[in-house]
Amino acid sequence: MKKKTDVVIIGGGVVGTSIAYNLAKNGVTDVVVVERDTLSCGSTGRCAGGVRQQWSEPSNVRLARASIDIFKRFREEMGRDIGLVEGGYLLCAHTDEEAERFKETVAMQREVGADVRIVTPEEMRDITPYLNADGMILGAYCPDDCHGDPFQTTQGYAENAKRLGVDIELHTEVTAIKKKGRRATAVVTNRGEIECNWVVNAAGGYSAEVGAMAGVDIPTKSYRHQIAVTEPIRRIQEPLIVDFCVNIYFCQTAHGSFLAGYGDDTEKPGHNVRSTWQFLQEISRRLTALVPALRDISVVRQWAGLYNMSPDAQPILGKVSDEVENFICAVGFSGHGFMLAPITGVLMAELITYGETRTLPIDGLSIKRFEGGVRSAEANVV
Ligand SMILES: Cc1cc2nc3c(=O)[nH]c(=O)nc-3n(C[C@H](O)[C@H](O)[C@H](O)COP(=O)(O)OP(=O)(O)OC[C@H]3O[C@@H](n4cnc5c(N)ncnc54)[C@H](O)[C@@H]3O)c2cc1C
Repeated sequence: MKKKTDVVIIGGGVVGTSIAYNLAKNGVTDVVVVERDTLSCGSTGRCAGGVRQQWSEPSNVRLARASIDIFKRFREEMGRDIGLVEGGYLLCAHTDEEAERFKETVAMQREVGADVRIVTPEEMRDITPYLNADGMILGAYCPDDCHGDPFQTTQGYAENAKRLGVDIELHTEVTAIKKKGRRATAVVTNRGEIECNWVVNAAGGYSAEVGAMAGVDIPTKSYRHQIAVTEPIRRIQEPLIVDFCVNIYFCQTAHGSFLAGYGDDTEKPGHNVRSTWQFLQEISRRLTALVPALRDISVVRQWAGLYNMSPDAQPILGKVSDEVENFICAVGFSGHGFMLAPITGVLMAELITYGETRTLPIDGLSIKRFEGGVRSAEANVV
């Protein structure tokens, strides 16, 4: 392992590897990614792989749109198939209040450029004939949205970063960050120290703990969310479906399995990633009520992972403290970090390479936005 480098990235998930690849692409190749376990072992390898533009906050719509462009040319740029299912996203509304909210957010999303529209229950059945749309008032449908494989995506970023000169150190845990004056000078790991000019916190569910190592208070908390996966069946559903009232999202993956999940709103924050029988029973009930054709299909796997929530359910990007001016954060993705990872990598690499972002402004996503409380929070988290 190198003893000295330009940039240390803490975290070998999709965000850390995307930043590493984009740095190397900009010519910043003296980079070490340190991952305490294996690539994708954190939230990335436990996520649903959904990629959507249907958010209530314009900044999330913009980031997601920029990411979707990158996902759609991923295979060409990276030489790796990420199992992208370009079947859109369908959001279901059950109440008048929810329907009104959908209409407002769809208008905003269209202004930002998303190809999204309101659909009737009949149109919802045309889009996805096996959905039980009884009791639904309308839907919001974006055919451009998609879902893909988070392992393949991370692997694609990692292998291309390595090809360009980045080092990836697995089974290497950061235990402390050394500082001198207003700068971080080295990360301390279980395999020795690495002196560096920049430290990037891409530690997912452990972002606050890594922030504390640099003496920075990062206002993120992690919450357990669970997923169940069925045996594969013939293709019967294209879009990823979200139902906020029922509290469920589900999709059919490229190889035919149904993947469905939710988070329990009553759970306390923490790092528990054990899956439960209660979840298995409840997800089966919710899923088969919405897609009765799945009643006799077996669940073959279940797991849990962490949503790293920020106070407004939007990521915290960039420098986080004047006290540690070379400590960059890409954290608090609040359940949408897979889909935002491609553009996050571009933006964080620009920040380090050029001292500013060029593709999109990120001032609104600075940690400073929380001074004086939360102004506007993302409402479309499931
Ligand atoms: C059930 C579930 C479903 C989800 N569905 C979606 C979805 O459909 N779409 C979407 O966009 N997002 C989804 N998400 C969110 C998404 O998974 C995350 O936002 C995203 O994976 C964050 O990536 P990351 O690289 O920041 O974090 P991670 O993948 O968690 O990577 C962080 C890495 O840092 C490492 N690490 C932590 N501390 C240290 C240390 N001290 N030293 C060294 N390494 C360290 C960890 O081991 C980990 O591998 C879902 C999440 C869950 C749990």
